Amino acid sequence: MKELNVLGVNISKLTQKETLTLINEAVRDREKKFIATANPEIIVYANKDEQYMDVLQKTDLITPDGIGVVKGVRILGEHIPERVAGFDLFMDILKVANENKYSIYMLGAKDTTLNKAVGVINEKYPNVQLAGSHHGFFDDDDQSIIETIKHEQPDFIFVALGFPRQEKWIAKNIHHFKKGVFMGLGGSFDVLSGEVQRAPKFWRRLNLEWFYRLVSQPARWKRMLSLPKFILKLIKTRF
Ligand code: UDP
Repeated sequence: MKELNVLGVNISKLTQKETLTLINEAVRDREKKFIATANPEIIVYANKDEQYMDVLQKTDLITPDGIGVVKGVRILGEHIPERVAGFDLFMDILKVANENKYSIYMLGAKDTTLNKAVGVINEKYPNVQLAGSHHGFFDDDDQSIIETIKHEQPDFIFVALGFPRQEKWIAKNIHHFKKGVFMGLGGSFDVLSGEVQRAPKFWRRLNLEWFYRLVSQPARWKRMLSLPKFILKLIKTRF
């Protein structure tokens, strides 16, 4: 597998297309997979939270979700071909799931947001089978989610609880299930529901999605300080 150790986190060097192929093969072969997406914030956080770092070691694949990761690894003299954003992968998967009538389980976000996201999927991807859904503000002891997934055995389990909770939830519970591609998807249901706007293509092409996010969700500014921290940490590894 093509991957690169970035401050202790193994980041995939696959393109989006290659990642999608790997995921499709896993579903076809009824394999179990744990997929995460990591931006600089997640990598910096994992360096502070040992338990989270351990959880990330248990994944099968971590995509580089953020231009900061793609450009940042150049400091290490390394190359990552492109950004593979969780939301983009999610959209690609829904297309494939629609073509193949795959089943999905959706866990996360506020109830109203989740319902809206489910509505969008029903409308745009009518062949996708919804095995179940649950909002993201549940008690960790709640077994009903696990029981439904066990019973339905969906092809995909999208977990959008934000990091680190979503990866910790997958790592803790994945042993209950026989198959399924488990993916941490952050705020993807908010975007799919239309409640949060993603940066227009123009901004994304200029690699300025992070800046758009900062302007449209200014409350996130503190979280964005992770980017300079990430770059500094990378520079330090060179000395
Ligand atoms: N969320 C959730 N349960 C929680 C905390 C958060 O379902 O206990 C949801 C929240 O409603 C939002 C998503 O998780 O839909 C987090 O989005 P964000 O963009 O902050 O993702 P991150 O950047 O943290 O991965």
